[in-house]
Amino acid sequence: MPWCFAKDSGDHKLSNHPWTFLLKFPKLNCMQFMFRLLASVVATLFLFNSVAEPSPKIPRFSVDYMDKSVAPDADFFHYANGNWVKNNPVPPDKSRWASFTELQERNWYLIHEILDSVCAEKSAPNSDEQKVRDFFLSAMDTNHLEQLGFKPLQAGLKRIDKIKTREEFFRAVADFRHSGAGSCFGEGVSPDLKNSGVYALYLTQGGLGMPDRDYYLKDSFAKQRQAYGVHVAKMLAMIGEPEDEAKKNSVTILELETAMAKASKSRADLRDPIANYHKFTVAQAVTNYPHLPMLVYLDECGLKKMPDLIISQPEFLDAFDKLVESRPLAEWKTYLRWHLVRATAPYLNSAAEDESFAFNGKVLRDQEVQEPRWQRSARAIDAEIGEALGKLFVEKHFPPAARARMLELVGNLKAVFRDRLQKLEWMSETTRAKALVKFDRFTQKIGHPEKFRDYSTVKIKPDDYFGNVQRADLFEAKRELARVGKSVDRTEWHMTPETVNAYYSPSINEIVFPAGILQPPFFDADMDDAVNYGAIGVVIGHEMTHGYDDQGRKYDGEGNLNDWWTADDAKAFEARAQKVVDQYNGYEALPGLHVNGKLTLGENIADLGGTSIAYEALQRALAKDPSKRKKIDGFTPEQRFFISLAQIWRTNIREAEARRLVTVDPHSPGQFRAIGPHVNLQEFYDAFDIKSGSAMWREPELRAKIW
Ligand SMILES: [Zn+2]
Repeated sequence: MPWCFAKDSGDHKLSNHPWTFLLKFPKLNCMQFMFRLLASVVATLFLFNSVAEPSPKIPRFSVDYMDKSVAPDADFFHYANGNWVKNNPVPPDKSRWASFTELQERNWYLIHEILDSVCAEKSAPNSDEQKVRDFFLSAMDTNHLEQLGFKPLQAGLKRIDKIKTREEFFRAVADFRHSGAGSCFGEGVSPDLKNSGVYALYLTQGGLGMPDRDYYLKDSFAKQRQAYGVHVAKMLAMIGEPEDEAKKNSVTILELETAMAKASKSRADLRDPIANYHKFTVAQAVTNYPHLPMLVYLDECGLKKMPDLIISQPEFLDAFDKLVESRPLAEWKTYLRWHLVRATAPYLNSAAEDESFAFNGKVLRDQEVQEPRWQRSARAIDAEIGEALGKLFVEKHFPPAARARMLELVGNLKAVFRDRLQKLEWMSETTRAKALVKFDRFTQKIGHPEKFRDYSTVKIKPDDYFGNVQRADLFEAKRELARVGKSVDRTEWHMTPETVNAYYSPSINEIVFPAGILQPPFFDADMDDAVNYGAIGVVIGHEMTHGYDDQGRKYDGEGNLNDWWTADDAKAFEARAQKVVDQYNGYEALPGLHVNGKLTLGENIADLGGTSIAYEALQRALAKDPSKRKKIDGFTPEQRFFISLAQIWRTNIREAEARRLVTVDPHSPGQFRAIGPHVNLQEFYDAFDIKSGSAMWREPELRAKIW
């Protein structure tokens, strides 16, 4: 499905979340899986010395972050953030440092306190506390992991050795994928885009070990490609292949993946939901892909009787099918061995984990050192049994008052958006009526699920980190596969409560805000309205606008792909959207490295709509209570709104990470999200008295106005 691009390719699970505020953090070094030990809990605490450090301070709005020596009309990003940028280099264990990473870092520290406290207490067998505790213990017990070495991988490697037929191979592909090691292509379960009440099985392009097809095909990634070959050979040598053979095999793997990369669509082309939706009967799929034993694969998924499936990119599967035929089974076994070790390395001994980091952290993202062990362990728990951890997190850190205040803010933003839809001068009455029907159906979720996921059937042991990850992945895959053809669960969440992010789901037509983001600098009860509307207000407006961006507008109020636009209105929308494409194409993230205006279009439209709507909502709040219309720290409410928004996007980033994100991330780099929406709004120029001829000025005929 179209939203798999929110994650790194190679992931076994398709992300069925839709359009987020930020790119989701890839699972540990872009991978999957896991294990663990320990007799005495009290002893462990000392052994690990894992007592939480004091939480980093709350990263709230501050005029101290500004550099007032920079004129706002010359460089608004540095005017709003210059001092922060100077004083907050990227920490050695990160590849990017920004307001949301500061906040997420604080959440990790709060989670560390929770983990230490569950370790210090006795918990009921099979309770969420027991699972979180034992998962953490298993991840922290590095002595045991060193003793185990590569033993946890042996069963999988033996299974690959024994494969003699294509059928056995694809059974293994399915099983490994479902316990965390995806390969060959992507698979996922999501609402049917044309029948949003029912889950469908999707097969998509995939199977790569690097983040995107560009890494295989473009000159600018030659260095990473070369390093990838070395990395693959090293890992294969670690699992026992003689060095020469490992080197030879790394060449084979790169050849196979390059062929798959060539058959893959670009991320910008994946944005068109209609062009990426192709429903086939199982019988058709069997005929279309004669070298991919589809029935065997589906049988292994427990879906033998399923009538149909959706193949998002049939051209990819076509090429893959031919590749299966043209390359010997022995090569595919090598490829599968690589993807098994690649996905599981972070949950093995330090040799495997360090080598995985050397490529996925250092080469791909310029990260200097790994995050502390406790933090990597917390990320693994969040990725694997995140709602169990989330339940403990919200008990401590989500005050009920936050939900009430959020509901009020969402209501205020909704009122503005609805009025806009009613008045929009470029839309016909026919399309408008349908837009309003869609708008009136959309809903919101705030904080955390009403009912948390039940993990009681997942066995989590204190001495089996690898097994814990595998079992949690398998639980999740089975849970999803079992619902193909069944009704969609509208109460489900696609982010854990501790996440600093938000999303819009086009199939459900809803906006969702986890507890993690409902804190400063996004949401701050101690700050004035201007600062809050410039932060969480814009986030709310951003998610609402996703329902009407270049992709979202193709779904109706029921969440189905369905063209409800007149041809003229669609043309008018596209002309306006083209201005956004042109604007962001003009931004350079690094010298010579331009933002991809088409890939980032949906997010940029959402930033623009969100900003414009939040600004008007602030004006309404100020009109209601004129006592709020006063200067604070020497700034008017309008000025504080735009400064607050720019501060949300304060960012420092390493070069490799900037290149990776420009390639894979549908969101624009922070420094452009901090000014991109502003320069389309006359209200911004008025607030800072910015005149024609200055660097920030954008001629009125170039400015985009959509919602
Ligand atoms: Zn978004």
